[in-house]
Amino acid sequence: MVLFSFLILIFWDGVDRNFLIGNFDPSKNTDFVVINPEFTTKSEIYMHSKAYEAFKTMYKAAKKDGIQLTIVSAFRSFSYQNNNIWEKKWAAQAKNNQHDTITLYNLLKYSAFPGTSRHHWGTDIDLNSVSDQYFDTPYGKKVYKWLNKNASKYGYCQPYSDKKSTNRTGYEAEKWHWSYTPLASRFQKAHISLITENDLKSVKGNEWLKPLNILEKYVSTKGTSCN
Ligand SMILES: [Zn+2]
Repeated sequence: MVLFSFLILIFWDGVDRNFLIGNFDPSKNTDFVVINPEFTTKSEIYMHSKAYEAFKTMYKAAKKDGIQLTIVSAFRSFSYQNNNIWEKKWAAQAKNNQHDTITLYNLLKYSAFPGTSRHHWGTDIDLNSVSDQYFDTPYGKKVYKWLNKNASKYGYCQPYSDKKSTNRTGYEAEKWHWSYTPLASRFQKAHISLITENDLKSVKGNEWLKPLNILEKYVSTKGTSCN
């Protein structure tokens, strides 16, 4: 067992459980960089340097085509996802005394369970706006069309693509969420291998998690453009 664990550690090349569930400080991780304010609406926001380099190349190409790409979210830690997003949404449900698997299922349509977000890896970014209304505007449609046509040239794909036209399970479609595949697919595989529900035990609602099969249905799936 010890040898097996050792081999897993070597195989994943420094990718450990804490990294995969976002339980680390990006300012102390040499693979992570602060995004220049030119590219983002947020201050002091981090992403993985390789995903960032690819984004900058994509950004320039988009600009030449009249498309402005702005990062509105990138790396999010476990504690941010838990304290600033998840616990607030969970607490709002407490008012109605609705805490069960169905509540959890509804929250999981658009909010990642802390420890299962692709934003933990620094490979995934939200672009321009996290609202469907934006992507329904003429300019939003243009942006989305450009990304669909060109993002793959820079290693980016849309993991939360339309669910109706594919057999994808998990989070609802997010036109704004783009993932740097060369790294993200590696971290996704590592997540599938190393993370268990036991690693998510501290999160509120954990006791309702089992029937939802979150690790298989929400982490393991991906949009067709990410294959
Ligand atoms: Zn996102």
